[in-house]
Amino acid sequence: MQGGPLLISGILRYGQYVYGDSEVVTAQANGYRRATFFEVASRAEQLAKALRRLGVGDDDRVGTFAWNEQEHLEAYLGVPSMGAVLHTLNVRLSHDQLAYVVNHAEDKVVIVDGSLAPLFARVREECKTVEHVIVVGDGDDSGLGKVLSYDELVAAESPGYDWPALDENQAAAMCYTSGTTGRPKGVVYSHRSTWLHSFGGMAAGGVGVTEHDRVLVIVPMFHVNAWVMPYVGFFSGADLVMPERFMKAEPLCRIIRDQRPTLSIGVPTIWNDVLNYAKTHDVDLSSFRRLHVGGAAVPRALLEAYEERFGVRMIQGWGMTETSPVCSLGFPPKGIAPEEDMDWRTKTGRVVPGVEIRIVDNQGRVLPTDGVCVGEFEVRGPWVATSYYKEPSTERFHDGWLRTGDLGTLDAKGFMQISDRTKDVIKSGGEWISSVELENEVMGYPGVFEAAVIGVPDARWSERPLVAVVPADGVRPEPADMVAFLAERVPRWWLPERWTFVEELPKTSVGKFDKKLLRERAAEGAFEVQQVDLSSHLG
Ligand code: ADP
Repeated sequence: MQGGPLLISGILRYGQYVYGDSEVVTAQANGYRRATFFEVASRAEQLAKALRRLGVGDDDRVGTFAWNEQEHLEAYLGVPSMGAVLHTLNVRLSHDQLAYVVNHAEDKVVIVDGSLAPLFARVREECKTVEHVIVVGDGDDSGLGKVLSYDELVAAESPGYDWPALDENQAAAMCYTSGTTGRPKGVVYSHRSTWLHSFGGMAAGGVGVTEHDRVLVIVPMFHVNAWVMPYVGFFSGADLVMPERFMKAEPLCRIIRDQRPTLSIGVPTIWNDVLNYAKTHDVDLSSFRRLHVGGAAVPRALLEAYEERFGVRMIQGWGMTETSPVCSLGFPPKGIAPEEDMDWRTKTGRVVPGVEIRIVDNQGRVLPTDGVCVGEFEVRGPWVATSYYKEPSTERFHDGWLRTGDLGTLDAKGFMQISDRTKDVIKSGGEWISSVELENEVMGYPGVFEAAVIGVPDARWSERPLVAVVPADGVRPEPADMVAFLAERVPRWWLPERWTFVEELPKTSVGKFDKKLLRERAAEGAFEVQQVDLSSHLG
């Protein structure tokens, strides 16, 4: 029998010695700062020593309130390796949610980026378990009371740490769901699950990250481990390019031009912003060999635009906070004709090795994998949670399976197609309309920058779709023209009669359309709704 636990310290040590020259580049207001993997790993050792000196023991939670930056990576590596638990705090949570998650996780120490110090100061008083706040870099930390300097703490220690032989099933990190539906829920990731998940990210059939890559990590490190890319990068020797707080299209394009990354990960809204920016600016994406996009449905128009405009292939993925997150990747299968490639890529993706997937009906009966039957996806596997932290939920978890709340079809090759979330699907006249499919089609209309679709009450059909459109270039497309466009693409009874135009769509803390808020605003009558006469289409 073989031995040897799967630990984060193994990832740290491997990157430190085998890829000691690979680099971490962090964007700054003026230029970049760089550190080698060897330096980052050594500083992670120094950080662990400093935390130990502050009284951080096994299983204690160390919060991070930070951007994608070198010090965050040091915490990603050092905190779990010493046996403590990294708790990444979402910097965009509301005041109440932030205080709630710090208290719920009982964070003992919080590492705060200087630029975020004023934001954290607003909840500091309420965080009763927090004994020390450590500030990275400069910033106005006057509202935080007594703080410690990250750099000083690290500099006071010598490199080297005799990493403990932990149990691989011990907690390494935790992240709370973004709380779009109720209170945030804590998800704990073990060393084993993170290690296996990272290994999957390096696999040729996975993201396939190697030493030859430079990965631009756009997904925030405070959200689901930045899709575990910091660990994948460290394990594979790929250089990591960290955009820090410069997450908008303009600075991102500058970072891409300067740093020439080969891979990147982000939600569709960010790629849509970059595309829009490229309409009026010279943007060079030629360094990319591929982009990974997920976290929300990816419109076909976006995949096509990246292919045509930049010659860059985009691959969709699906996952959740509860699943670490990657459960599916949208690489087309072998043996297909070139003209079918895009059809496959618009699917949500194929289940990745290690994850089991199925769809069930509302009685919990398993449905056939015929690509036609619609049910709720359930998943299980080594990096899929089986419970929330300190909160049993039989609603979500049963017999090792996670009920995802996502609806769609599954085929015999393991390809899934999400049609909606259970809470977003529009129930019209006893049938379902996919809000996701509708909005993806609307976003394919030339004058549309972004569009979100929600269900609104309707006396006759119980619910009907309302489309909220952000026009591209400020010119409103005609709703009747958009309906005619849709009429060739979706079933007739899906055609939306209600349209509204907005300057921007509300987004969640992780950049997805906030449909809960949209529904609330619609219920308050905040939108000026234009009605389109559908009679010519319904015939
Ligand atoms: P939140 O619930 O706040 O959005 P998560 O990041 O955990 O937090 O979101 C997971 C959800 O995002 C999934 O359950 C699914 O509804 C959606 N999602 C993720 N990737 C995709 C995708 N490729 N296509 C459609 N929906 C997706």
